[in-house]
Amino acid sequence: MLTVDGAQGEGGGQILRTALALSLCVNQPFRMINIRARRRRPGLQYQHLAAVHAAAQVSAANVSGATKDSLQLTFKPGRVVAGDYRIDIGTAGSTTLVLQTIMPALMLADSYSTVIIEGGTHNPMAPPFEFMQYALLPLLHRMGAGVRLELLRPGFAPAGGGLIKAGIDPTVALRPLNIDKRGRILQRRAEVLLANLPEHIAKRELAVIVRLMSLSDEDVHYKVDTRAAGPGNVVLIMIQSAALTECFSEFGKKGLPAERVAQRAVQAAKDYLQADVPIGRHLADQLLVFLALAGGGRFATMRPSLHTLTTIAVIQSFISIAIDQYQISDTSWQISFDH
Ligand code: ATP
Repeated sequence: MLTVDGAQGEGGGQILRTALALSLCVNQPFRMINIRARRRRPGLQYQHLAAVHAAAQVSAANVSGATKDSLQLTFKPGRVVAGDYRIDIGTAGSTTLVLQTIMPALMLADSYSTVIIEGGTHNPMAPPFEFMQYALLPLLHRMGAGVRLELLRPGFAPAGGGLIKAGIDPTVALRPLNIDKRGRILQRRAEVLLANLPEHIAKRELAVIVRLMSLSDEDVHYKVDTRAAGPGNVVLIMIQSAALTECFSEFGKKGLPAERVAQRAVQAAKDYLQADVPIGRHLADQLLVFLALAGGGRFATMRPSLHTLTTIAVIQSFISIAIDQYQISDTSWQISFDH
């Protein structure tokens, strides 16, 4: 059986999710060892177990080793069946990361699915809902996929309780995506989401963004959400160019001044703008599985992160495809896929 080493490269949860996603798509059983070996608390935590259970649920998989803190897992998928699924992570674990685990396989299934996931919708170290909606999904649409996403209720860590709903159409064939240039910047805007916290936080964050990015007041907005179970604050900066929309985010944290939160988000956006590439770091690692399934495509991006390099290695253990990366300039790299 295929063995995936969870200690390779980044050594975190993304190796497991990528392996599950691909196992479902190509119907390849696998055994994973050293799960999350490079994390402070290695092994399967609740959010990773939720991804395993979700993958098992859509494919009637045979699974062993799926227990908390387990370092090993065997996953044998059955046929992926489209349907109406509801998944409760049980903690504030990221709903978008669980969705990414099962979405590629449901896209390739023969009928329409709906997936409702309860947990965190805005988590540090994971794609916020808006990143999926503004940055990732439009590119998947261009590849021929039909996925719609709704934020039914926001959920921040540690309270959780957020809800997302995805509608996933069957995709006849994923088309390769080629994005070499960013083109002209058409719009820069910022959004702050605030739940159960004083409004001056959002105002201070937006004031910093307006000043550091020379935006006007019409380009920045904040939303107070009264539906979230606990407190939460996220700063989102959207950069729309001729080629795509990118989304940069930073989370408010107790003890971290609102101004610092905004500065960090601005820095991420400025690094991207300065690199003069279309695809930012996070979008790069999240597009890889889809280009591999499409069997081709290429994009220009920033220096590949360890996440990207690790995901490439995991893909190549499931799918026979050449994935090359080479440096184009001081700040840009090209990643290309070829059978
Ligand atoms: P572990 O639990 O082992 O720490 P993890 O399950 O949190 O790992 P990571 O291995 O850290 O997962 O991967 C997180 C994923 O979330 C990556 O695909 C990364 O690109 C994405 N991500 C992290 N931060 C952002 C962000 N601000 N915007 C978009 N995507 C993000």
